[in-house]
This record gives sequence, structure tokens and C-alpha cells, in this order.
Amino acid sequence: MLPPIEVHRASPLKAKPAPSEALGFGKYFTDHMFRMDYSTERGWHQARILPHGPLGLDPGAAVLHYAQSVFDGSKVFRGQDGKLRAFRLADHCARLSSSAERLSMAPLPPELAREAIQALVKLDAAWVPSAPGTSLYVRPVVIASEAFLGVRPADKYIFFVIMSPVGGYFSNGAEPVRIWVEQQLTRAAPGGIGGAKAAANYAASLQASVAAKKRGYAQVLWLDALEHRYIEEVGTMNLFVRIGDEVVTPPLDGTFLPGITRESVLTLLRDWGVRTSERKLSIDELREAHQKGELREVFGTGTAAVISPVGGLGFQDGELKIGEGRLGELSKRLYDAVTGIQYGTLPDRHGWMTLIE
Ligand SMILES: *Cc1c(COP(=O)(O)O)cnc(C)c1O
Repeated sequence: MLPPIEVHRASPLKAKPAPSEALGFGKYFTDHMFRMDYSTERGWHQARILPHGPLGLDPGAAVLHYAQSVFDGSKVFRGQDGKLRAFRLADHCARLSSSAERLSMAPLPPELAREAIQALVKLDAAWVPSAPGTSLYVRPVVIASEAFLGVRPADKYIFFVIMSPVGGYFSNGAEPVRIWVEQQLTRAAPGGIGGAKAAANYAASLQASVAAKKRGYAQVLWLDALEHRYIEEVGTMNLFVRIGDEVVTPPLDGTFLPGITRESVLTLLRDWGVRTSERKLSIDELREAHQKGELREVFGTGTAAVISPVGGLGFQDGELKIGEGRLGELSKRLYDAVTGIQYGTLPDRHGWMTLIE
């Protein structure tokens, strides 16, 4: 599928962060990146691996003006057996492709992205860290590179992949986070691009997240754009709420991201016979459940943190405390199950892992 990849090796190679060092998230980049270009005449061409470095964009490039930019994010793990495994790589590549489609970008066949990522991971395999909780984060991106200021889909694109060794996403690990429930600003509306992993969605979210941080909250919980009543998702995560014995998450409606961790969690919960519902959930129902003492756990799901327990939900008139600020039973079980599959210590019953060799 992929034409032969030219490899231009970096020299000298960078010093890798020491194993004892806190990696953070997206702070270090590996030695190499993948790049491929697209034009309407030539299609995708010139697949190459280069030293990680500047792209050389024209200041007229459409992405800089009209935000045709999509990305994805997945992880590669070093198992206890030393082998490297990517989590749900084909699904991440399929989503990148559909995000690009939503933004009227050049069609990017998912297999092409998958082959590119596998080749890059192989070359920079020494960058996959081995300390517990660490992994290699893979960030494929498609941008419009055509230098043209008319408003229409560009006819030139760059697909590139960069990688970063990462630790846990939140600085306080699996400690519950406090989330601000945003009741004024909106991230995405019905019919918009909220269901695509588009850079522009993040631009729309920053103002609320800065305000939430000022109030002492880690992230923002977005509500529906029309009524500001129904829960959608949290910053970089999908949201799950355990009310009594039911685990609820909002149904995919195109306004928020169809998370692959979300789908994995739903699959595991169903495997375990836990009652799950993809249904609308209003903040009134949430508050009522809390009042009745039935709000047992709230957690976010996403590639970066896997499972992130929520210990408090902030409103203008005060905070709902959840689970006495401790990690919930189901949150813990899910975290252990997903990470066990990722690090190869638990069987991979659903074929989620791709061995990189
Ligand atoms: C990436 C992302 C998620 C989580 O998706 P995963 O596939 O589980 O990583 C959730 N919400 C938004 C806005 C995202 O960009």
C-alpha cells in the first residue's frame, strides 16, 4: 500500500530522558518523524522518515488560515516481556481518516497511516520507555499545506507522525481530578466538527479550560450547546457516570469525540455483565443521583490517562463531591484491565494489540 519509505537517519541521535525522569506528556520527542505529501495530481507521495524537525510551511498555507488540521493519538507499550505493542492502532488510523474526511481533506487510507506508524515506531523503538505507567505516544497529523488564500478545501496536504515518550497524563497520577461544569461556553454544536479530532475543537476549548484552571479545576465538562443541560465530554476525555448499578455514558451524536478508550471500556463492562447505557444524562439527573447517594463513580476515559477518576464536579453554586475523593472500585478495575492488556500481562481477548516487530 505504502510506497517505499526513504529513510534519512538523524545524526547524532538525541540523549534520551533518564529512566528516573518524569516524562510528562509531550515534552520530549523521538529522533525521527514520518512525512508524506499529497497533491491532487500525484496523490500521496514521497513517504519518508526524517529527523524530527521543522516542516517548512509557506505562510500562506491553508492550515494557518482556515484550520484544516486533524490529528489522532495512540500509544505503544513496552510489555513485561520486552515486546512492543500498539493499542487499537487500526481503529486510531480509521478515525484519523474519518476526521480528515469531515474537514474535506485529502482521503487518507487508514492502512497507509498504520504502515507509516509501524515503520516509525520500529526505527525509534529504543524510545519506548519501560518504567511502569510509561509509553510512547504517537501523534499522526494531517494539515492543508497549499499556499492559497481562497476559501475552499486545499489541494495539497502533509501527513506527518511525531512521537513522544510519556508518563501518566495528569501530574497527580490516578488521584481523582476535579472538573468544572461549563455552563456558558460551548465546544461544539450539532452539525459541527465536535466528532472529529480536529485541532480547531481544541482552540474553541482553551478559554474555558484556562478559566477552570484559575478556579482550581483540572479540566472542563462540556454540556450540550443548545440547552447546557446534557453531559457531553471532558476536555480530552469521554465521561462515564455510575449511578446505582448502571454505568452511563452519553450516546455518540457527532458533537463529541468517539473515544477508542470509551469503546474499550464499554466492551469490558459488557464482558463483565455490568449494566451499561449509552443515553443522555442531564446535570439535573446527576445532581439528583448525588442527593440520593446513588452517584457512585464518575470517570473520564482517554488514551492519555486511560481512566481518570473524577473526585468533584464544580458548579457556580458549589461542588459535588464524588466517592469521598478516592478512586472508585470500577474505575480501578477498568484501569487495571486496560493497562494489563496494554502491557501484555492480561490476555488480549478482543485483538486490540498489534505486535510491533
Ligand atoms: C482524543 C479525545 C478523546 C479520547 O479519545 P480516545 O480515543 O479514547 O483517546 C476524547 N475527547 C476528545 C475531545 C479527544 O480529542
